[in-house]
Amino acid sequence: MTFSKVTHVLFDLDGLLIDSENFYTQAFTNVCGKYGKAFTWELKKSLLGFQGHECAEKIIKELDLPVTKEDFMKQCQEEYEVLFPNVQLMPGAKKLVEHLKSKGVPIALATSSSEDSVNMKMQNHTAFLENFHHLTMGSSDPDVKKGKPDPSIFLVCASRFPEKPKPEECLVFEDAVNGVKAACAANMLVVVVPDPRIEKELLKDATLVLRSLEEFQPELFGLPPYE
Ligand SMILES: [Mg+2]
Repeated sequence: MTFSKVTHVLFDLDGLLIDSENFYTQAFTNVCGKYGKAFTWELKKSLLGFQGHECAEKIIKELDLPVTKEDFMKQCQEEYEVLFPNVQLMPGAKKLVEHLKSKGVPIALATSSSEDSVNMKMQNHTAFLENFHHLTMGSSDPDVKKGKPDPSIFLVCASRFPEKPKPEECLVFEDAVNGVKAACAANMLVVVVPDPRIEKELLKDATLVLRSLEEFQPELFGLPPYE
């Protein structure tokens, strides 16, 4: 099976290229625990792919926490500062990104995170980030008007390649249902590497579902194969 040929590749960050989702879960678990509340997978699942302030709002509302959004986010920030230096690249991420870069395939990052957040999570992976033509960081980018599942972030990201690729020439890598929806709404192809707990039904619009980036075969999308 092969798919339409693509020329440009857009990558989500959290949970796709880095294992930061586990650290977000830990931070939210710790802060919610201070109020005697459990941060469950059901709640976590509903937050995947959303911007930070949206997650804070949803958690406070769902668990009825006696805290303002600002205070909740400040407490999370303190947790992140301890946890994020431990962020690791996901299996296959380095190999894929460096392969595409070495073959001259234009690649960019399209993350809902802010620039400050990306800098904190990637503090031990700065050389890895240099592979990308540009970084589009939704929470701190004035051109990204709405978060995923809105297609805005992917359309803005693609428009910043000098070649101005058409959406259908772009391939998105995602781990979240919201990201798949955003990529589909942008009319782009999307490979999803989901948390295995996500129901298959929610991923039916993805072009391809993989268990790991290590399984990806670039030639299926007309990209240069691994040697
Ligand atoms: Mg993600």
